[in-house]
Amino acid sequence: MNKIQMKTPLVEMDGDEMTRILWAEIKKELLEPFVDLKTEYYDLGLKHRDETNDQVTVDSANATLKYGVAVKCATITPNAQRVEEYSLKEMWKSPNGTIRAILDGTVFRAPIQVNGVHPTVRTWKKPITIARHAYGDVYKNSEIRIPGAGKAEIVFTGADGKEIRQTIFDFKGPGVVQGIHNLDKSIESFAHSCFRYALSIRQDLWFSTKDTISKTYDHRFKDIFAEIYERDYKEAFEKAGITYFYTLIDDAVARVVRSEGGFIWACKNYDGDVMSDMLATAFGSLAMMTSVLVSPNGQFEYEAAHGTVTRHYYRYLKGEETSTNPVATIFAWSGALQKRGEMDNLPDLQAFADRLEKATLDTINDGIMTKDLALLCEGGAKAVNSKEFLSEIRKRLEGNS
Ligand code: NAP
Ligand code: MG
Repeated sequence: MNKIQMKTPLVEMDGDEMTRILWAEIKKELLEPFVDLKTEYYDLGLKHRDETNDQVTVDSANATLKYGVAVKCATITPNAQRVEEYSLKEMWKSPNGTIRAILDGTVFRAPIQVNGVHPTVRTWKKPITIARHAYGDVYKNSEIRIPGAGKAEIVFTGADGKEIRQTIFDFKGPGVVQGIHNLDKSIESFAHSCFRYALSIRQDLWFSTKDTISKTYDHRFKDIFAEIYERDYKEAFEKAGITYFYTLIDDAVARVVRSEGGFIWACKNYDGDVMSDMLATAFGSLAMMTSVLVSPNGQFEYEAAHGTVTRHYYRYLKGEETSTNPVATIFAWSGALQKRGEMDNLPDLQAFADRLEKATLDTINDGIMTKDLALLCEGGAKAVNSKEFLSEIRKRLEGNS
């Protein structure tokens, strides 16, 4: 059989623990037999990050700037216990944080839907993608516990020494106060990423804030989105037959629950944090969430939303069989191959990405799945281990089942 050829390499970011095991299996079973896989390989496994003083993470992000598309395995974000476990030189920062700082992007998360696992919300027929702004607001705040009576003020001292001052509250007794910020530049990047992503997957874009209450802060978000839409994207949206729609967050929540799905919901940092957990749970499971980082300059980095599944890895090390769900990691690969094919005009590669996703979904729809899904599935499901699951997908990919 002739393997499908690629032009430009994908940036391949290998990772840790159980997902690293699955990574190698997915390549061997589902990719390399069919595609003449061209990747530029970066080992982001914790050991190698430590050996390179985390330079490998920076290099992999720079390679993504160069080539445009990356696929990433889940990685350990070290804490004190990991520093000991791996005898690390330092408590290295979260790789995702480092990569995001270099690519300056927005993260889009979407559930993969299968027969038998029904969303808790009955009307949802298509996935809902959350786009979460990942800078500022309450995540970079400054707060004071007010001990007793006194005046709290908000003061801005300009570089020219000029002051802007406002009273927050005249306290008569104890309380709390909080200061938060955001940047036009970051909000602009967020907006560009959202509009570009909506065009790339041809879905409507919703954006919601609390601008009726927050008349300056949230309103700034609304205005920046509106200006950028009118100036840079309106025409392309109309051509693609999709819409941009702004509404108050309360109204958005009500509409989301009544909707059929099939759109992107852009949220401020806190709203996105809360709403993405709500959507993941309501759609079924974290093991079925895909995640893609889109930079404002049009680079794409695909990954699974879940972590390295440590508990399964420790069982694997003891020689026990595990039934870890590889679906989100497979979809990270198919997403990256699809995008590479689109950018390099390789219809065969795009068709392969589609077939890989279809073979994966067909396997589950035939009632064969990993344990986590079988537990959620209504109607007869056969729980298999990860290896068996991958080989069932391969059979369908080869057209033998
Ligand atoms: P996790 O790896 O997502 O796993 C949490 C639990 O969720 C697992 O123990 C498992 O439950 C279930 N689960 C998640 N993915 C699954 C899958 N594919 N198949 C079956 N079950 C799955 O989160 P964590 O345990 O909090 O974090 C582990 C490590 O991952 C940490 O070192 C963290 O730093 C890292 N992490 C990385 C990323 C990333 O790279 N994007 C994201 C999050 C966390 P049961 O054990 O009950 O089966
Ligand atoms: Mg959260």
